[in-house]
Amino acid sequence: MEGQAFFISINNVITVVWSLLSLASALIYLLLKPPLDIVSSSILVAVGIVFSVVCPVKAPSRKTYREFKKFDWEVEVDPGKPKGENEHDVIVVGAGIGGLTCAALLSKWGYKVLVLEQHYQVGGFCSSFARRGFVFNSGVEDVSGLREHGPVTHLLSELGLRGEELFVKNTRRIVYKGKAIDVPNNLDQLIELLAKIFPGEENNIAAFFNEANKAYEECYREVPLYGAPCQQSS
Ligand SMILES: Cc1cc2nc3c(=O)[nH]c(=O)nc-3n(C[C@H](O)[C@H](O)[C@H](O)COP(=O)(O)OP(=O)(O)OC[C@H]3O[C@@H](n4cnc5c(N)ncnc54)[C@H](O)[C@@H]3O)c2cc1C
Repeated sequence: MEGQAFFISINNVITVVWSLLSLASALIYLLLKPPLDIVSSSILVAVGIVFSVVCPVKAPSRKTYREFKKFDWEVEVDPGKPKGENEHDVIVVGAGIGGLTCAALLSKWGYKVLVLEQHYQVGGFCSSFARRGFVFNSGVEDVSGLREHGPVTHLLSELGLRGEELFVKNTRRIVYKGKAIDVPNNLDQLIELLAKIFPGEENNIAAFFNEANKAYEECYREVPLYGAPCQQSS
């Protein structure tokens, strides 16, 4: 519902802009002589077209940015001030990947940070445990955002780390109807494999991954606007 109201408000703004431009155009024709009237009015039409194209593209991201901004909070912290042994600029509760990342960045930016963790090991859901010779993920098995300009690549470089040294490419095996299927890491090969397993579904499988790919691209499209996780707000 909120999205619908926002869509209507964008339409209203565009309508108002076009009304004002039409009004200005009418005044131009009344007040100016040819060819100045035609030139000025054409400029106004061009402005209107650019606005109508740019506004619906930019407005949703601006709105989301403003919504996120509401949750920004500021505290008086002076990393330059000398601190006692038990004094800290920031205390992070929880050494999951979120807390650890946050603490690492703050520490790099000169804050004295204390991380408190209730568990006997760090990492939260981004960790693993061993049982009877097997290693199990607590949660995370895939990390996205590691492409060249991806946010995780950006975050790692800010922390002086390199993805290639931290992550391993896992192989996967799915057991489907009693048959072991080795899942390729390459998307084209995966689509080919699925098409063989589900004959007649080639087009649907390709369409699904096409949509998934678009969603992925969309997730990271606004990174320059919102900032990657390690970008300090200006
Ligand atoms: C089954 C599963 C699979 C997933 N797979 C993926 C995946 O493939 N890729 C991906 O990107 N994401 C995946 N996720 C999501 C990802 O695991 C989480 O988004 C991420 O790990 C959350 O990190 P976090 O630091 O916010 O929280 P957590 O990992 O939950 O860490 C919170 C930490 O805080 C500690 N803590 C909590 N309360 C206190 C307290 N009061 N005092 C002290 N310590 C406290 C906890 O012990 C824990 O260590 C998966 C999640 C699950 C559950």
